[in-house]
Amino acid sequence: MSYIKVSNIKLNIDATNDDAIKEALKRVKLSFGDVSSIEIAKLSIDARKKPDIKKIFTVGFETNEKVSGKDVVVLNERPEYKYDITGTSELNHRPVVIGFGPAGMFASYLLAINGYKPIVIERGGKVDARVESVNKFWETNELNTESNVQFGEGGAGTFSDGKLNTGNKDKGNRIKFVLDTFVKFGANEDIKYDFKPHIGTDILTKLVKSIREEIENNGGDFYFDTKVTEITKDNTIKVKTGDKTFETDIVILAIGNAARDTFEMLNANGFKLEAKPFAVGLRIEHKQKDINKNQYGFEDNRLGAAPYKLTYHSESGRSIYSFCMCPGGYVVNSSSEVDRMVVNGMSYSGRDGENANSAIVCSVTPDDFDSDNPLSGIEFQRKIENNAFVEGNGKIPVQQFVDFKKKTKSESIGSIKPQLKGEYELANLRNVLPDYISEALIEGIDHFGNIIDGFNHDDVILSGVESRTSSPVRIVRDDDLQSNIKGIYPAGEGAGYAGGIVSSAVDGIRVFEKIIEKYKPF
Ligand SMILES: Cc1cc2nc3c(=O)[nH]c(=O)nc-3n(C[C@H](O)[C@H](O)[C@H](O)COP(=O)(O)OP(=O)(O)OC[C@H]3O[C@@H](n4cnc5c(N)ncnc54)[C@H](O)[C@@H]3O)c2cc1C
Repeated sequence: MSYIKVSNIKLNIDATNDDAIKEALKRVKLSFGDVSSIEIAKLSIDARKKPDIKKIFTVGFETNEKVSGKDVVVLNERPEYKYDITGTSELNHRPVVIGFGPAGMFASYLLAINGYKPIVIERGGKVDARVESVNKFWETNELNTESNVQFGEGGAGTFSDGKLNTGNKDKGNRIKFVLDTFVKFGANEDIKYDFKPHIGTDILTKLVKSIREEIENNGGDFYFDTKVTEITKDNTIKVKTGDKTFETDIVILAIGNAARDTFEMLNANGFKLEAKPFAVGLRIEHKQKDINKNQYGFEDNRLGAAPYKLTYHSESGRSIYSFCMCPGGYVVNSSSEVDRMVVNGMSYSGRDGENANSAIVCSVTPDDFDSDNPLSGIEFQRKIENNAFVEGNGKIPVQQFVDFKKKTKSESIGSIKPQLKGEYELANLRNVLPDYISEALIEGIDHFGNIIDGFNHDDVILSGVESRTSSPVRIVRDDDLQSNIKGIYPAGEGAGYAGGIVSSAVDGIRVFEKIIEKYKPF
């Protein structure tokens, strides 16, 4: 049976998935009886001729019939993620996975369902307890340094917009597997085909729990509220936590980009680390209806809250770009260290908040850091996070764009009301970032005003500081994806080889593949 894709099915914006499926069959002159498993394979929006906006569908189905034609692709089989367990070495101990974000989650899920019985160690709490401590933090400003927006079951992206787009190509259908798995455990079907798929915090928090339960049902064990404080190797690898030592042959180190104390421990324990470029900046908020109007020609959410993606090359040679755009979302206090302030963005699945927000960030490289120590990027982050904490008196510092340009503290809010999770204080964000970054951000935001009407209006809201865009450190690994200390597989964003939910999950899958090449299951 072949798998057929019929693409470029251009329909009006009120067209349904059924309309697209009927149109696809008409084009290849088949009926429902000739095909099986017919589905929407992709849906994007063509808004180039506003307000005449079109939905562009690709429909996929299996059939024994011979079909051909314009915009028709015939594949020998339906694209699926496949792997082979070819390893013959025996494991003497259960694999240990450190961190239960997307990288650790997908590695441990695949290990569990294939009989490798992983032990997962996570410094933060189970998701229900974590939701409580995060909500308490947003209400009272009392930070739990171990269970927060960055740490805990599900990892950093659990309180997020849950955007699942990635710039990576889907070699080997790993991205498809990630999206299919999210749907299997509770995400909406549309993430499989939407051109900008997203899940939303409300669904993510349930989904990560279901995946954990499936891992447990398949022989995996979890230790929450358990921080790894030492990893050493002699004959075997020893993973130490407060009161326990886990002996193992293999460790998947999926610690994310915020575990600074763990990076310090790795550095002290002989792991090869290097500083890497990342980006820092500020969150920016606009009214979502103004973004919709610009992107679609109308203000309402009939096509969902509109996203945007903007890039600019500044005169000083730095890249300025929008990052982690959250349509209909909230700016969240995402701090994980005492006396340091970090912001990020999240949305609920309905993306129905009043404002659109994104980070406008500026690239920084190890040349911008004060030393050539591999952890110098962390010190750079800490400094600006400290500045942000002081500037906001421990609350999220907020400023209107006009005042940021004038270098004066905002005394009031204009027509755009900040939509924040966490308390805020009017401030002067010029005291947070080095001037060369602030100036480059202003240049970028003014340039983006030529692309999106009102993007650089006076009363646009800025908040800070956005410092955790990707890891400032890389844990160097070889072609087998192992660190210089063999048997230890760095994975995901913290390893410095991924950025975002999907690419981190895919990196966890790649590490799983290396393990099954070498070891057989129990
Ligand atoms: C508020 C917010 C919104 C975001 N929105 C999006 C989005 O919409 N789309 C997107 O693609 N990306 C988003 N991201 C980024 C995304 O969450 C990360 O890229 C992704 O989670 C990285 O996955 P990971 O598994 O590599 O690491 P993480 O998700 O960071 O997970 C690492 C885990 O390791 C644990 N850990 C660390 N050190 C130790 C230790 N010593 N012992 C035990 N456990 C440890 C941590 O507690 C953590 O749970 C967002 C991030 C944040 C903070």
